[in-house]
Amino acid sequence: MQLSTEKKRRRKLKKPYAALLILLLIAGTFFAANVNSAKPSPAGVAVEKTGGQQESAIQEQPDTKKPSSADAPIEVEDRDEGAPEETGEREGNQKDGTNEATVDTTGQTPRKTVYLTFDDGPSRWTDEIVEVLHTYDVKATFFMQGVNLQKPQLQDSVRRAAEAGHYIGAHSMTHNYRKLYTDQKFVPEMMATLQLIRQLTGTEPHLVRPPYGSAPGLKDSAIRSQIADEGLKVWDWTIDSHDWELRDNPAQIKRNIVNQLKNDTEVILMHEKQQTLDELPEIIQYLKQQGYSFAVYEDSHHFSVNFMNDPDL
Ligand SMILES: [Zn+2]
Repeated sequence: MQLSTEKKRRRKLKKPYAALLILLLIAGTFFAANVNSAKPSPAGVAVEKTGGQQESAIQEQPDTKKPSSADAPIEVEDRDEGAPEETGEREGNQKDGTNEATVDTTGQTPRKTVYLTFDDGPSRWTDEIVEVLHTYDVKATFFMQGVNLQKPQLQDSVRRAAEAGHYIGAHSMTHNYRKLYTDQKFVPEMMATLQLIRQLTGTEPHLVRPPYGSAPGLKDSAIRSQIADEGLKVWDWTIDSHDWELRDNPAQIKRNIVNQLKNDTEVILMHEKQQTLDELPEIIQYLKQQGYSFAVYEDSHHFSVNFMNDPDL
């Protein structure tokens, strides 16, 4: 009696065991199949699997899959605020007697970055320079003169440049050395120029480029504190392309840049000139080949670049 009860109990137990075994087998097969599909498959296989679905999605919404240049972000690069400090500081290099700006890139990206800058506009070349920059998806920094900003026929070019994401800073009203530095009209002239830019573009720039550079014009510390008090920032450059004097030899503009290129952060001085426009594609392509990314000045990410080595400018 006891034995038969025991047999019955065993028989009862066998059934769930068998069911469990079958379940495990099914689960095991299913798991193995999933692992297989998760493995990297040779190119083409995955496309074949999902091709039908993708096609129908594309047919439903033909425009959404097309890449659009209009969607491209205005920012040239992502800045990494947490990046380790990089100093582009250079000791005085007097070999050619030119001015040397200290680049303090504290808080900037350690990547190789170049700032293209164009002085003396707006001009008849502004639109074409902006067009070349657009072709290469590059943003640049312009320093414009008040007398040119006041010319009605050039004002649309200024608006277009700003709308395209370029920075428009001030380069004084008169560009006259005596007025700016001897007569000390630097600050009022820059304020007036920035006001013109604000009116034309709706931007709020604070960056100015001193005509002929900050040295020796801004040697007087009184004028520099006047600049700081007005919240102005001053940028010179690290590379002088000498483009303005190379009308008959545009290729030399690029050579001048190539010969001076050495820092991870460079600010290149150029002007709105025909020869600069002609050579610009070559210059951009060379800098790209050297691993430089192109940045545009931003007031919120200012770093000092000036011959006076004044960190407050
Ligand atoms: Zn100039």
